[in-house]
Amino acid sequence: MNKLTIEDIPIKGKRIFIRADFNVPLDSDLHITDDTRIRSTLPTINYAIDEGAIIILASHLDRPKGVDPRHSLAPVAKRLQRLLGKEVQFAPDCIGPQVQNMVARLKPGDVLLLENLRFHPGEKKNDEGFAKALADLGIDVYINDAFGTVHRSHASVTGITQFVKTKACGFLMKKEISYLEGAVANPARPFVAILGGAKVSGKIGVIENLGKKVDKVIIGGGMAYTFLKALGHDVGNSLVEDSMLDFAREIKEHAIERGIKFYLPVDCVVATSMDPAAETMRVPVQEIPKGWIGLDIGPASVHLFTEVLANAKTILWNGPMGVFEMDAYSRGTFAVAHAVANSYALTIVGGGETALAVHRAGESENISFISTGGGAALQLLEGKELPGLTVLPEKEG
Ligand code: AMP
Repeated sequence: MNKLTIEDIPIKGKRIFIRADFNVPLDSDLHITDDTRIRSTLPTINYAIDEGAIIILASHLDRPKGVDPRHSLAPVAKRLQRLLGKEVQFAPDCIGPQVQNMVARLKPGDVLLLENLRFHPGEKKNDEGFAKALADLGIDVYINDAFGTVHRSHASVTGITQFVKTKACGFLMKKEISYLEGAVANPARPFVAILGGAKVSGKIGVIENLGKKVDKVIIGGGMAYTFLKALGHDVGNSLVEDSMLDFAREIKEHAIERGIKFYLPVDCVVATSMDPAAETMRVPVQEIPKGWIGLDIGPASVHLFTEVLANAKTILWNGPMGVFEMDAYSRGTFAVAHAVANSYALTIVGGGETALAVHRAGESENISFISTGGGAALQLLEGKELPGLTVLPEKEG
């Protein structure tokens, strides 16, 4: 990554607008259930405090339709205050004269969190007026540390940058890009990609792009059944995208032509319905009974995939191996999480669902890097440009 970062620009005494991704999950009592995204931004915020900058933090939370107290960032301000160990002021809006006044009163080292950007429809529409209103808070420097949103061309991600001269990436953004881009561009080999999740169609770009760069591909999750059907197996009522059968066949053939090793599940856990209490059994993929649904990989597949990972030097994992949200179908995903964690490879996990699965398996600490961005990570792995990154300047020389 050759973008300018916060360390490359003077921020002492400057009002810096940090676009963060504080889109954290809240329970029905508005308690934060996972603060990983807040913690991930701490290095940038702490650096700015240490440097004596005036810090204005902005983020979205969820997808509110207009102003809605259930989507207020107030709980984030409280948590951030505890994590930073210093006062975090909270603004009742993100633009307008009242917020401008609050910003004007801030002193070096102060931290102000703005209210949810998406309370204004202009944020998602990348409305120029809204972007300018954000810049009109009196911003000297723009820092983007919101990796989870960098694939979206929203006002606080792209629009605002035309109104602020000095701009750069934060530390989280730098780390995300370096790991995800670095793994794909220049991996230590053997490089193994584990791809799972619901559908082939959601990951065509990733399969195509990574398919050219890896030494081995492991396919699991719902998408495996489209591949298995393409090979002529009867997969019962498992999730299959008939429109993707030719694509699946071609991907496998191309991989084999290039000498890439290609692995599919050899057994699975099938159930009579997608229900936690449904009748289940383990069968080889050749023996999926009519009407049954494959909802997890079986123990023989876990064994095979673990063997495949044994000599890996780089492992990139995106997408669970089964419906891990239900206990009955979580074993395969958790076993793969343990295998990835126990490997001697550089291990990278991308995608919200996979990060959650790794967390539930208790292996978060044993993975080299877990991306905080689902869609953004996928877009990067597809080899596509990220709009929020394109608008930030490169380092000189
Ligand atoms: P994705 O967002 O594409 O990575 O998909 C993640 C979702 O795939 C998870 O919520 C899983 O429940 C789901 N999934 C994994 N395996 C299967 C399967 N065999 N059948 C249906 N859904 C699955």
